[in-house]
Amino acid sequence: MLQLRVLNAQAFVSSIIKRLSTYAVVFSRVPVGLRTRAVAARLGAIGVLLGRTGFHTGKIRVRSVNKGVRLMTNVTLLSASIASTANASRRTASKAAFFDRDGTLIYDAGYLDDVSKIKILPHVIDGLLRLQAEGFVLYVVTNQSGIGRNLFTHDFVGQTHEALRNELLQYGIVIEKFLYCPHVKADDCCCRKPKLGLLEDIDVDWSASWMLGDKISDVQFGLNAGMHSLLVHPNGERGVLFQTVPDMQKAVEVICANEAHPQR
Ligand SMILES: [Zn+2]
Repeated sequence: MLQLRVLNAQAFVSSIIKRLSTYAVVFSRVPVGLRTRAVAARLGAIGVLLGRTGFHTGKIRVRSVNKGVRLMTNVTLLSASIASTANASRRTASKAAFFDRDGTLIYDAGYLDDVSKIKILPHVIDGLLRLQAEGFVLYVVTNQSGIGRNLFTHDFVGQTHEALRNELLQYGIVIEKFLYCPHVKADDCCCRKPKLGLLEDIDVDWSASWMLGDKISDVQFGLNAGMHSLLVHPNGERGVLFQTVPDMQKAVEVICANEAHPQR
């Protein structure tokens, strides 16, 4: 059964919507700003459904409570009709896109040890927005062995991810979770990519999900998890089990083309 959640913009920030089968109606008198833009972008995932009630993808207008009540009524009716007609009563887990961090989302600064060194790579903002609008839940998954080497701390990595989260949020991009392994290879832990320990508590539709990274270990990680995998590197080596693309723009084109004509 489709779920309907009623949130306000403030609550949304601390309560990220976890499933595509979750619908949010935002009640807020707050002017459209950072938070409401983020909400609207997240709602882009269900824009097609809401479109039938006159709303457009990614352009949900956050209005007064009265108008919100009317919208909720529409969505409730819509949910009921979808549930009865589209076999939507047992929605599977959502599809997701997982991104390596250094060298994929942001410039690889060697061991990033200063939050001011964060610099988002070209095409990343547009790419993430497009994937989000396609209904992908976004995750970052990164090996941070600098912790194990005592180059920086867990706290620092937390601050880095908070800074990156906030920067992306300004564009309306919501990162569901930042997952990182703090170990060095010699620790032989179970969470360093390409091992899958970081995904232990993650519940997504793996066969509909993608892993993007600039290293073979990223691609191997994605393949190990049963995801489509792309090596995103201007002169990355070619593989039999994965595609290689030069940058994020091309990566997102490949994913969207597959969405239109699935090859699984
Ligand atoms: Zn680990």
